[in-house]
Amino acid sequence: MSKFTVQTLFRPEVLALSAYHVADAQGFIKLDAMENPYIWSDEFKQMWLARLKDCPLNRYPDPEARELAGMLKTLNQLPNEIDVLLGNGSDEIIQLLLMALPPNSHVLSTTPSFVMYKQISDYLGLNYHGVSLRADFELDLPAMLAAIEQHNPAIIFLAYPNNPTGNLFDENAINQIIAAANGLVIIDEAYEPFANNASFMNRVANNVLVMRTVSKLGLAGLRLGYIAGEHEIIEQLHKIRLPYNINVLTQTSVQFALENKAVFDEQTAAICAERRLMLTALNSLKGITAFETAANFILFKTPENQATNIFEAIKEQGVLIKNIHPQGGLLKDCLRVTVGTPDENQAFLQALKVALNF
Ligand SMILES: *Cc1c(COP(=O)(O)O)cnc(C)c1O
Repeated sequence: MSKFTVQTLFRPEVLALSAYHVADAQGFIKLDAMENPYIWSDEFKQMWLARLKDCPLNRYPDPEARELAGMLKTLNQLPNEIDVLLGNGSDEIIQLLLMALPPNSHVLSTTPSFVMYKQISDYLGLNYHGVSLRADFELDLPAMLAAIEQHNPAIIFLAYPNNPTGNLFDENAINQIIAAANGLVIIDEAYEPFANNASFMNRVANNVLVMRTVSKLGLAGLRLGYIAGEHEIIEQLHKIRLPYNINVLTQTSVQFALENKAVFDEQTAAICAERRLMLTALNSLKGITAFETAANFILFKTPENQATNIFEAIKEQGVLIKNIHPQGGLLKDCLRVTVGTPDENQAFLQALKVALNF
């Protein structure tokens, strides 16, 4: 007989969670997770491996990854008084921010938005509030301001562009939220490489922090995110970060990639060009409405109550996208597709056409 049950051992908010589900993508054309579809040339791989060869694997890595952090500061032209903190993906940074809050704090974002804001708030026992976007996916500013007034959130997360809608919120509305907030406003720029230079990076000061990741740029396997903010805020986050959260292979590989940023800029340009073609192709299909996007994915609406069938029919043809319909609300009947290579996108469009004829 066991001396305990998990029900008595763990916090109720942990027991109540359902695990973050990642679909098995083996054998599929993978257009579900906003990954960059391009692989590196053999020559580029050789250059990278030559750099890794000298990584001292027997030693702990630089705990603050100072070289990489400095490089990110320079690349983003951040002034001296602004610091960056690195995370094992920006997911870890979201967790660090929320772990630092007092019990019973309130956290605010939009519905829909990136699922981790709510997921992590929930398991830490914080009070999460998602304010519905307008039907056009724009911020409902009066409702956001009312929620700030009512809950006095310690942290507000705004994904810019937003996931899974793909749009950039109105800049003026964001400015008014920043002005009204008593706590921190985290601008999550995970899709910045595709956002045509839309960014709040030059607005980082006081309660405004900007978070980014190299995942969507093309390095999702390395797990590196970062956040820029005032020294006095970042300093506190460093205290609760695990000492060696960025391993030496990631530090070295990201440095290598950033030194060769032109390679990624070229891939990003190709993805943005394909995004335009795909939007046009999707909107030319009867029954489909694809929404404008500043990210490397497209949200589209399917005929009423057919989203799951269409998703499954596309999957049966070997293409994996994301079924967003179960999230309900504004996302009813919606599917999300990541922009892939021209061949992958054609395969997806073909599979969708077949699915629509059901
Ligand atoms: C993908 C995504 C992230 C997470 O990125 P990682 O660095 O891979 O953890 C954060 N925010 C948004 C809005 C995302 O879509």
